[in-house]
Amino acid sequence: MSVEKELKARSGDKCELCGSSDGLSVFEVLPSDGSAEQSIYVCRVCKEQIENPDKMDEAHFNCLNESMWSEIPAVVVMSYRLLKTLGREDLVDMIYMEDDVKAWADAAPKNSSGAIVRDSNGVVLNAGDSVVIIKDLEVKGAGFTAKRGTMVKNITIPQDVADHIEGRVNGTKIYLKTEFLKKA
Ligand SMILES: [Zn+2]
Repeated sequence: MSVEKELKARSGDKCELCGSSDGLSVFEVLPSDGSAEQSIYVCRVCKEQIENPDKMDEAHFNCLNESMWSEIPAVVVMSYRLLKTLGREDLVDMIYMEDDVKAWADAAPKNSSGAIVRDSNGVVLNAGDSVVIIKDLEVKGAGFTAKRGTMVKNITIPQDVADHIEGRVNGTKIYLKTEFLKKA
């Protein structure tokens, strides 16, 4: 079963943070092996906010009051990180996690604003740049291969994923590891 199918079934086809069914996609809770256990199913709004912590809407994330009690560790970990970002230490303190889950929650890759991302040649990449993929890449969860030579325009630099950029390939927004990219 694909990760997306597993998450669809697990979530009942709803965002695992806020319950919305709008624009659902798989989000890997990094560091992640790409499995369903280490991913969550999120709606467009939650995903946008996870990726743009500067623009987080605290009102939208009232849903974390519930998701933090989820039985799914990946959902708890994401809730924990978002509540921390929102400065809600009162709720963070109430979250219960097994030791290994807590270690995962605290292992968020650091790439907050100001982090520098470089392509395979060491050239600094910025949001809005175009890059070329230099190796065929299997895209986990999306079910296609990003072909070598593909140009990815208008990339963004994710806040929560080290050594990756985000861009659209075959109409799907995906993370691409910078070591497989060359600035165009
Ligand atoms: Zn949501």
